[in-house]
Amino acid sequence: KEKAQIMDEKAVLRAITRISHEIIEKNKGVEDVVLIGIRTRGVPLARMIQKKIKEIEGVDVAIGQVDITLYRDDLSKEELDPVVHGSQIDFDINEKIAILVDDVLFTGRTVRAAMDAVMDYGRPMVIQLAILVDRGHRELPIRPDYVGKNVPTSRNEVISVQLEEIDDVNNVSIYEK
Ligand code: 5GP
Ligand code: MG
Repeated sequence: KEKAQIMDEKAVLRAITRISHEIIEKNKGVEDVVLIGIRTRGVPLARMIQKKIKEIEGVDVAIGQVDITLYRDDLSKEELDPVVHGSQIDFDINEKIAILVDDVLFTGRTVRAAMDAVMDYGRPMVIQLAILVDRGHRELPIRPDYVGKNVPTSRNEVISVQLEEIDDVNNVSIYEK
């Protein structure tokens, strides 16, 4: 199907730069900040933010990851529910500012599951959310603190996110299912 580009390489990199500045400003530095990427593409995004923060502040913030998989339970025929498949957080998150990072925010169910996973490791001071694309259609009271781009979508549209680490290019496009 036909794809329309909504962020080119420069737009993606500018969004990462702005989000990194916003993280530093909102938290008055990055002393207590840790990043948690939601697999798959939240992890390279977290690494891009980490690199930018290092350029700006000269500080290496820690990165962990959570792996959320969609499962179809016996009761619902259509809807998939996100379940924590695995996570890797090799540092103390108690009293930290834990920033979840993902590529696309849709219903909010993945983020809810990711918050559960993070809180199994301890008690962060606060959890924030950084998202490259917010496509709307929330089903839970979850809102991002940092947004690359708001892209109102219909339910049969899909956002395609490509990131250099995985896809060799950085861009975002939209297409009809
Ligand atoms: P949610 O749990 O908020 O419904 O969906 C968010 C998760 O599903 C994210 O991890 C995201 O990667 C994926 N996702 C949902 N909708 C889209 C979409 O339109 N495009 C892409 N690339 N991922 C999506
Ligand atoms: Mg995902």
